[in-house]
Amino acid sequence: MGKPTGFLEYDRKTVIDRAPSERINDFNEFHIHLSEEERKEQGARCMDCGVPFCHSSYGCPIHNLIPEWNDFVYRGRWEDAFYRLRYTNNFPEFTGRVCPAPCEYACVLGINEPAVTIKDNECTIIDKAWESGLMVPRPPQSRTGKKIAVVGSGPAGLAAADQLNQAGHEVTVYERDDRPGGLLMYGIPNMKLDKELVLKRISIMEQEGVKFITSTHIGKDIPLSQLVEEFDAVLLACGATKPRDLPVPGRDLKGIHFAMDFLKANTKSLLDSRLEDKNYISAEGKHVVVIGGGDTGNDCIGTSIRHGCVSVTNFELLPKPPEDRFEAAPWPLYPRMFKVDYGHAEAIEKFGKDPREFSILTKEFIGDENGHVKAIKTVRVEWKKNSEGRFVMEELPGTEEEWKADLVLLALGFLGPEDTLPEELGLERDARSNISAPYGRFTTSNPKVFAAGDARRGQSLVVWAIHEGREAAYEIDTYLMGESVLPKMRP
Ligand SMILES: Cc1cc2nc3c(=O)[nH]c(=O)nc-3n(C[C@H](O)[C@H](O)[C@H](O)COP(=O)(O)OP(=O)(O)OC[C@H]3O[C@@H](n4cnc5c(N)ncnc54)[C@H](O)[C@@H]3O)c2cc1C
Ligand code: SF4
Repeated sequence: MGKPTGFLEYDRKTVIDRAPSERINDFNEFHIHLSEEERKEQGARCMDCGVPFCHSSYGCPIHNLIPEWNDFVYRGRWEDAFYRLRYTNNFPEFTGRVCPAPCEYACVLGINEPAVTIKDNECTIIDKAWESGLMVPRPPQSRTGKKIAVVGSGPAGLAAADQLNQAGHEVTVYERDDRPGGLLMYGIPNMKLDKELVLKRISIMEQEGVKFITSTHIGKDIPLSQLVEEFDAVLLACGATKPRDLPVPGRDLKGIHFAMDFLKANTKSLLDSRLEDKNYISAEGKHVVVIGGGDTGNDCIGTSIRHGCVSVTNFELLPKPPEDRFEAAPWPLYPRMFKVDYGHAEAIEKFGKDPREFSILTKEFIGDENGHVKAIKTVRVEWKKNSEGRFVMEELPGTEEEWKADLVLLALGFLGPEDTLPEELGLERDARSNISAPYGRFTTSNPKVFAAGDARRGQSLVVWAIHEGREAAYEIDTYLMGESVLPKMRP
């Protein structure tokens, strides 16, 4: 185990972020690693508690062997830590930066002390592996002759491709965007996840034999049925890309955009030309209102501030979450709690207040004489339990307000995968319109076609996408070979 008395001796210390006042001037990553000595102390805080919930189904969805690598961190055995981490996680450089770390909410030390800094430890291990040259291509020693097509290059598609390639299959990943990575590339902004890291990982995978075909829209440029015919198996990892709309009066006005159109264009322009081509929706000089919270809403806030908006407000329909755990989500469950994320902290620094307005409902967009949005009408709401015990929303009379807005970003979540691919093959869908492929089997109603990630489970997290990609790879390998050489880990 780490240091037996580590948790008594050292306080929790997370990565230092660059000061909001400084980082809002650029799109560079904002986390700074602790010193090696400080990081070892953080590894030493792990109690190796005997029944580690952090890597159980309550904690890390990919079952990272957390106590084992915490011990190696404490001892400065970075190479060993990396090999343990690599065993369960294909892409720790992504999760170490963007994962909401359910593991830390399930940490046993977290019952009565601040939890171990599991996510930051993970990030340090993989960053050190890149720095010290451990991240070298590992092509498989032999090939099976089986060919697999993966549609979509987000974390689910990448994890599956990586596993299947390691098992010796020939894997081709199709991506309709010009750069691979899915939401790792064109969703999560550069300041949270440096795109160089995504491209470096893709490059390693290419050197290991995975083929990436970008700017190719399956279902339009190539029929899905052609892939089904030409390959031994097909994995649909095409994400949940249908955005939820807000059909209130004035929705057609100019200046109202889906969050993803705003975020994607920004990152593409940043990578293509350091934003000089101006091919993005600019928030400069604008009163921005972001409707909807979560990671997407927060990323819109951070990006708008970097553009130089004059104000930013964030509407959330739900009430403000509690500051601490609440009864319905005791340890080791992942609780919905009030958090100040990076975008909120930046708004507080720039405008002197948290941008969030809770329990607020958008009623109407108001336009100017040119058909451009200029204001939003809202009303406050209250959430009450009805006679069946379900929470319902009630509008509060007399709370109507009007908000100045000349750029509105809709971050209201996603409604499952687009229809083109499942419709072409007549694949079954579940009640939420996701591609139907039972968890644990990942097979769709066509036995040669599998589905994983947000396309199967609905809008989720990077770590769940990696988990599903790995599990689907195991099932595909078994389908092709009769048994699998890959690890299988159920949550
Ligand atoms: C703005 C934003 C921020 C987020 N931030 C976080 C975060 O901080 N932490 C976290 O854990 N999660 C975050 N998430 C959620 C996370 O990114 C997703 O859960 C995860 O990326 C899903 O992975 P996936 O591989 O299933 O799909 P995706 O990442 O969506 O990838 C699907 C890919 O398939 C491609 N594709 C779709 N259809 C076709 C087709 N017909 N032909 C070819 N290619 C196709 C798409 O272009 C896309 O590249 C965020 C999501 C958003 C939108
Ligand atoms: S992937 Fe996420 S849940 Fe798993 S150890 Fe890393 S931070 Fe924790």
